[in-house]
This record gives sequence, structure tokens and C-alpha cells, in this order.
Amino acid sequence: MSSSSLSRRQLLQAVGAVGVASTVSQVLDVTGATAATAAAAAVAPVRADIGVSAYPFDLGQVRLTSGRWLENQNRTLTYLRFIDADRMLHTFRINAGLSSTAQPVGGWEGPGVELRGHSMGHLLSALAQAYAATGDSAFKTKGDYLVGVLAACQRAAPNRGYRAGYLSAFPESFLDRVESGQQVWAPWYTLHKILAGLLDQYRLAGNAEALTVVTNMADWVDWRTGRLSYAQMQAVLNTEFGGMNATMADLYQQTGDARWLVAAQRFDHAVVFDPLAANQDRLNGLHANTQIPKWIGAAREFKATGTTRYRDIATNAWNLTIGAHTYVIGGDSQAEHFRAPGAIAAYLTNDTCENCNTYNMLKLTRELFTLYPDRADLFDYYERALLNQMIGQQNPSDAHGHVTYFTPLNPGARRGVSSNNGGYSTDYNSFWCCQGTGLETQTKLMDSVYFHNGTTLTVNLFAPSVLTWSQRGITVTQVTSFPVGDTATLRVTGSVGGSWSMRIRIPSWTGGATVSVNGAQQSVDTTPGAYATLTRSWTSGDTVTVRLPMRVVMKAANDNPDIAAITYGPVVLAGNYGNTALSAPPALSNGSVTRTGGALTFTATAGGSTVNLIPFYDAHGVNYNVYWNTGGGGVPAGWVRISNVTTGLALDSGGNVAAGSALKQWNWDGSTNLQWQLVDLGNGYHRIVNRTSGMVADSWGNTANGASCLQGPWNGGDNQQWRLNSLGNGRYQIVNRGTGTALDGGGNTTAGSATILWTPNANTNNQYTLGVV
Ligand SMILES: [Zn+2]
Repeated sequence: MSSSSLSRRQLLQAVGAVGVASTVSQVLDVTGATAATAAAAAVAPVRADIGVSAYPFDLGQVRLTSGRWLENQNRTLTYLRFIDADRMLHTFRINAGLSSTAQPVGGWEGPGVELRGHSMGHLLSALAQAYAATGDSAFKTKGDYLVGVLAACQRAAPNRGYRAGYLSAFPESFLDRVESGQQVWAPWYTLHKILAGLLDQYRLAGNAEALTVVTNMADWVDWRTGRLSYAQMQAVLNTEFGGMNATMADLYQQTGDARWLVAAQRFDHAVVFDPLAANQDRLNGLHANTQIPKWIGAAREFKATGTTRYRDIATNAWNLTIGAHTYVIGGDSQAEHFRAPGAIAAYLTNDTCENCNTYNMLKLTRELFTLYPDRADLFDYYERALLNQMIGQQNPSDAHGHVTYFTPLNPGARRGVSSNNGGYSTDYNSFWCCQGTGLETQTKLMDSVYFHNGTTLTVNLFAPSVLTWSQRGITVTQVTSFPVGDTATLRVTGSVGGSWSMRIRIPSWTGGATVSVNGAQQSVDTTPGAYATLTRSWTSGDTVTVRLPMRVVMKAANDNPDIAAITYGPVVLAGNYGNTALSAPPALSNGSVTRTGGALTFTATAGGSTVNLIPFYDAHGVNYNVYWNTGGGGVPAGWVRISNVTTGLALDSGGNVAAGSALKQWNWDGSTNLQWQLVDLGNGYHRIVNRTSGMVADSWGNTANGASCLQGPWNGGDNQQWRLNSLGNGRYQIVNRGTGTALDGGGNTTAGSATILWTPNANTNNQYTLGVV
């Protein structure tokens, strides 16, 4: 963006303070300016965001120069060049009554799938970003073609009985179904993607026709939602609607037309917003990716209105999610849902961390950073999630950069292997939500490396890149092998003269960070988890060297201090298990993690053997392990009583010494029948030995819920091995290795009742305490 854009921003800030007067002339002015400015420059919004004190650079101002980020971007760019526009437009044309001879695509875009059309939105956004970032006209040409056909579809829509402005690959009757409470997938979610894609085509790729189409569509949104009472609209919001509030607020900021703000606020979902405004965590059980876009919307609505309740909602949602619902790699959700606050070790499955959620959490983080540019924890999170999950979502051996849906975290997990939407995405037969958000993520990797405010530059991320700070005539060249190396250099050239500040994020994971200029260490505060500010008079060619020493740190799960992940600086390390299956977190030997070379390769001892550790983002095509058993479960070494939380009764051998006899539960009376030793087997499991009988608890291989737990002489089999999952509150779930079922009191408080086996669940019937005798 040229320096005149800066004065435009200042001008518009002044206008924004007065109100939204002379909106139309501003829109025309901005549109007219587009044609005259550089092709890859963003179209400035009419209204300035309220409360903001850090500003991103346009995508075209930051160029990735080498390394994994650029490689990821290039694979996705290859796919964007490859993908056939007419095949993607097929269902739009058919829905509008226009002819199409293109071969339909499959997956979630199949002609009979209710979500069809959502990928068009992602494609429009990704093409706009690709063009803005690279200036390559191939992306502009393809985006223009898509917008042109969509405009024709929109013009034809009334011929099919749709209201003017409607643009979709499915009939308008889908909206009737939402409004009447009938089953339908998520039409507003899909329309949100299309609106956002068109807006991106306008503001990032300068396509004026896209503004016309999105404005017509917004007019339809306003009509469709304006007919409904508040209660009717709230009922509509119970079906996933993406970030409708976010994009309508964006359109208001972009154009200044207050109708779009009114429409945005109709999508404020009270049942989700009200508890968050009060900083209450009621996320347990909610579909995660249905919620996160609403929070981005709240941030956008704050910036459009200045109403602090919106800011509270967005900030509280971020704090609660990161604090209580986020795995070490930066993702959240299990089977797409939020679980109880703190539940992490209890949900290490092959369907953790849907990738869309993290795409959206990164957007939310970025929105909050511009409000709170001194909160380094925001970009500590951003770095962790971007590096480990989002860079790692893409298959590096696929030329089209295909991605996964979930990021599994079960012991011995493998990317692309899950119970639902497994595999990597494909050219034309997947089109899940995460494929669409993946296209966006991998075409805007540079968007948060640098921010600015006035003469202050903030360096948030460490990635090889060149910043063209055209507003000031300054170029910043960052060279780094981060995170393999711990050092980044930033060379400033051009019109750098005079005193100005460079703020550099000092991550919370480092210690002893240093900042040097031209080789001389500077006396600046480098406290971890804050920004180091370098204010000086600069000379072209000055080179800042930032060194961020890394070390191995174990990150325990919130719900279990003995289940922990290995991190090195910002990088999560994963055990490379090749094709070996794991059924439980391997027992990691304390202090055994050792770096083996200059690359991020380490070894550790786990389960008695050596395992190679690799960066989690590189863990493709192998079984990997992220969370380890680090404490032997904290299980007492001597004789213990094992008491059921619901019944209060203690596990009892009954004094019976016959192999195959059933275990009971009894009031604690100090008898050796009720005393057990938990013998650590070194593989994350224990055997449970009775003091009277000398035999061990044994599932006998019976996988039925309600089967009695028996006892037998120790034979080393899986049916006699038990994993003690610490629930972090002094309670344990005791899970059999052979059957996967857990000891359970069955809710029977009668002394002498059976101890049974049941699928592990959150009920206290299968929770036990261990009391040293
Ligand atoms: Zn998804």
C-alpha cells in the first residue's frame, strides 16, 4: 500500500468518528482508487476499526522466502492453479437454471449434499489471498472468472423463484427448513463462506464486481433475517451458521452501510454469548467449530461498534478455550466437541483437534492482538498452533498440499487415520470444511509475521521473509532457520533514518534471550512472555539478531500431571513409532530426552526402549506419540485400598483364593482381603495384586459391559494389566489393557456386590481413590 493509503486511513478515522455520512461517495472513492493502485494492494475499508492499536500489513507486503512455510504455500498454490473452475461452479449453475456440462465433483460438494457451495467461498478467499500475496495474475484470472459466473447465477436466481440477491448452490427452501425447525445441514454456514469469499475478492483482489454481488447478497440476508422476530431468529441460530456476524460486520466496516451492522447483530447468539460475557465456561458438549466463528464475529462487532460486551465475549472465549480446552499442539475439541474444562488426557483419541477450529482460533487471536498488542501470550499461542498443527496439517509429500480433517492425539496416532473423515483430502472427492479452511490457511501464512502502528514495527513470528513497509519506504529482511535454529536476523534497509521502535516478541518458552544490533548486544528487557522494544536511530543495513534459547520442557495435561507432552521451544516433539501400534501412552523415562544433532531430532527412552523424536509437524506417514506417561501414574508403592467413588466400597478379593473367582466390593475394615499392591510394569500399566490371595485382578478377556472382574494367578497377559488414568483430583480410572473396559462399582452400595467392568465414561461409578494402608 502506498503512503497515501496511510493518510486515507487517518482521514477515514476522522470520518468514522462523526458517523457514516457520505457513505456512498466513500465507497465510490475507494472503488475508484482500486483501479489506480497496485494490483495486489488491499482495498482500505471505509470505517476504521475501533480500539485497534496494531495493524497488519497487506499480504503483498510480506513475502515468504524459504523454508517450510513457503513450501506449504507453494503446494497449495499448485492446487489452486490446478482446480477446475467450471467443475466447482456446476452446482451453482444448475441451481440458478443455467446450463453446465462440467463433471460434478464429489465429497461434501456432491450435487446431492446439503453443504454444497461452501468450498466456493474458500476457493474465492484462497485465490484472492494467493493473488494478493504473490501478484500472480493466474489467481486473479481464475477468481475473476468465478465471480463473473456467480454474478450471472445471482442475476438468474429470480427465474427459479428465488428472491433477488440469493446466490447459492442449493435451493432457497433450505432456509425455509432452518426457519421451520426441519432437519437441514447448515445453509447459513455455507452462505457465510460465499459472502466472505466474495468480500475477499473485492478487498484483496480488487474485483469490483464481487462487491456488487456480495452487496446484493447482503441485501438478501437483511431481508431474510429482517422478517423474523427475535425469538424466531434465535431459533435459527441453533443451526450452525459460521461467522455470519463476522462477515456482515466486515461488510459494514468495508462499505460504511449501517444496514449490514444491523444484519450482523441479528446473528448474535444469546445462549452462547451471555455466559461468555459473564466469563462462564459453558462450552462442555458444544460443537466447537460452530462456536468459534461467532467469537470472531463478536470481535468484529466490537471493532464496528465500540460496545465492550462484544470485546468481553471474544476475550473471555479465547482465555477459556486456551486455558481449559486446548491440547499442546494448539488445537481443541474431541469428536468436534468441547469437553469438560481441563479434560485433555481423558480425550486422547484419533478425532481430536479439528483443523477448522484452529484456523478460526488463529483468526480470533489476531483480532485480539490488534486490541491488546502487549499481550505476548496471544502470539505465543499463535506460534504454537500455527507451527505444530496448521503447518503440520498438510501432507508435505503431496504436490497439491492436501490436508487432514482431525489431528489425532491418541497413543500411536497417525495423521489421516480417524474414525470419521479419515485420510488426506483429495482433488475432487473430499471437500470437507477442513479442506476449505486449509486452502485459506496455507495462502496467508505470512499475514501475522509483522504488525505496525505509526513508526513502531512489531515482529511477532520468526520465519524467513521480506517485509516491504511501503508506507515508510523500509524493507525488513528476516533470515532464520527457526525453529531448527534459535536465531533470527532482521536487516533493515531503505528510508530507515531517524528514531523508531522495533518490538520483538520474546516467547514465554525461552530464557536468556538476547537482542543484538550489528553484533553488539543491546541492553533491552528480554523477559520471556513480553515484547522487547528496541528504540534507536537506524542506519540502512543495520542488522538485528534475536537469539531465543530453547530447552526441553514437559507440558502436562490439565487433568493429569502424569500425562505430558515433550516440547522444545515452540515445537512439540512426537515419538516416531513407524508402523508400531500403541494402546496406551508409553512410560517415558525421566530426563531421557536428548538432542542428537543440529536438526530437530531427539531420542528418548520410553517403555524400556529408545524412541526417535521428531517435530510434530513432520509426523506424516508414521505412527506417532505426543502425550507420554511420565509419572507411573503417581501410584503409591505399598499396600493400598482401592475405593469406589460412588459406592464408597473397597475392592475385595473376598478371601477367595480360587483362580477365576469374582472380585467384590466391601466396607473398608482393614482386612488384607481389601489390600492391594499396584506393581508398575514399566509400560504404562500395573498389575493389581491382592494381599490375601496373591492373585491379580483379571478381566478374563470378557469385553461385555457389566462383566464381573475376576482374579487369577499372574500370567503376564493383557487381561491382567491395568492403566491407572489419574483424573487429576486424586481419582483414577482403572482401565484393563485386554478389554479396554474399566473397573466399575455399578452404583451398587451393598457390601458384597460385584465389581464389574464397563466402558470408560465420566461417571463416578468407574472412578476410584487409592488410600495407602
Ligand atoms: Zn473442519
